[in-house]
Amino acid sequence: MSEIVIKEQKAAEGKERSSSEESAVPNFSVFWHPACDKHEVPHHPEQPDRVNYMMDALKLEFHDFEGDIFREAPRGKDEHIVLFHTQAHLDDFNKKCTRASAYYKKTKKVNYQPYDSDTAVMWATGEAAYRACGAMTASIDALFLDPTDPGAIDTAYCCTRPPGHHAERGKAQGFCFLNNAAIGAKYAQATYGESHGIRRVAVLDFDVHHGNGTEEGFMHDESCFYGSTHEKDNYPGTGKDKSPFVGEMAKSEVDRRIVNRYLNGGDGCLKNPNKSSRAEFRQKWPEIVSEMQRFRPDFVIFSSGFDAHSSDPLGNCWLEDEDFHWATTVVLEALTEMDKEEGRTVDATDRAKRCRKAVGVLEGGYDLEAISSSAVQHVRALLKLPCTSETPAEAAPLQIDIAGLTRRKEEKEKEKEKEEEEEEEEETDDENLTSFEKSERLERELAERTGSLIENVEGTDDALAAVIESLSLSMSPTPTQVVPHRAESTEKNEKEDLLAATSTAELSDENVLCP
Ligand SMILES: [Zn+2]
Repeated sequence: MSEIVIKEQKAAEGKERSSSEESAVPNFSVFWHPACDKHEVPHHPEQPDRVNYMMDALKLEFHDFEGDIFREAPRGKDEHIVLFHTQAHLDDFNKKCTRASAYYKKTKKVNYQPYDSDTAVMWATGEAAYRACGAMTASIDALFLDPTDPGAIDTAYCCTRPPGHHAERGKAQGFCFLNNAAIGAKYAQATYGESHGIRRVAVLDFDVHHGNGTEEGFMHDESCFYGSTHEKDNYPGTGKDKSPFVGEMAKSEVDRRIVNRYLNGGDGCLKNPNKSSRAEFRQKWPEIVSEMQRFRPDFVIFSSGFDAHSSDPLGNCWLEDEDFHWATTVVLEALTEMDKEEGRTVDATDRAKRCRKAVGVLEGGYDLEAISSSAVQHVRALLKLPCTSETPAEAAPLQIDIAGLTRRKEEKEKEKEKEEEEEEEEETDDENLTSFEKSERLERELAERTGSLIENVEGTDDALAAVIESLSLSMSPTPTQVVPHRAESTEKNEKEDLLAATSTAELSDENVLCP
């Protein structure tokens, strides 16, 4: 096995590593391409800076590792894409790409060729998608090089976009055009099946959304395993959790090969006060890994989406950086266990008897800082380096007085009812008021709304009432723009505001976001 040595430069810079890190770590590479930050739909959460932020973080973390760490991906090949996708889908995608880029060349204006309300092709989409796919196939090639080859690696991460796991064999959707992980699975089998014994491949997906595209492609393919944890009721609504009818109780063999587990989302207050998704993840992910172990894959691909992170605007789950490290480690430990059972070694002469390998590919994740720090921990786990992230105590699940909240909510409703009754009474009295009394009351209302007594407001009562009405409108919440794939984002943003605005001890009624 080829090894790399961490330069002493790091210590000279004051960035000390633990003694366990100073030992040799696996050879690895991050595959990426500058074209991946060119695909852009304005105001879209799947934005170019996702890969830019992540690359900066990965370069900072791994800059002193020897070897060809950051590699530019080649362009993916059609013949590899159609190992998973239908020719019709690829033709349609290329047609849209050609149209959009021809329009751009001619007019220098951006034209969008839509698939659905949040998935569209523009002039740079084709190159980005082909490079993302090329990163996956190139990383697999490097993984299966002979260990003595200078380009050989033990693990890899594809820091690329657009993502892929919602793309079905014949359909682009949910920000995804080409399913990089699924293409990788079929490519590894087709290219290294005979030579390296790569016959069974598992895709493990911890993105907050269900990878319906991967599942659709693998459903009738007995050589592939798909395991996913995802937020219940989030996009795209597929991936039913069939527990407890899994494991030995499974109703069909497919249920042991396509294994879905729900995480319950929630905003950390009434809807899901204990932010249970983190505990659920720790409980359910090993169930998936256990079924994967039973399946005995020869190769593993992580669909590494980081949108189950507590900071993510599209997900409502509560994972932290270290959870992605843990999830990766659990899978790698299972692979090591299987290798030991089967007597596989790193450099066995029989290539089918070499240790299993794993690669990660970016899926979702929309908080730029969270995806960067999470990706660093994911890659550290792929390298079998210890986790360097620990969630501060203040981010731990909130302890909320539910009974108190409910009581205060009821009290508030009663207060509101009382106010409404009083308003009705005032309206009735209004008819009996003199013109002077009406003006006085309107002025009082205006002062209450603005917080200060407004004097010398000139004009008729109607004008004064209009001022009050406009003030009332300007104080109302702004209507929220709803975009299908990010329908949950408002709640999440509010959740973040809530967390920022409250201590762990008390929540006021104004902060309760759940109906
Ligand atoms: Zn996602």
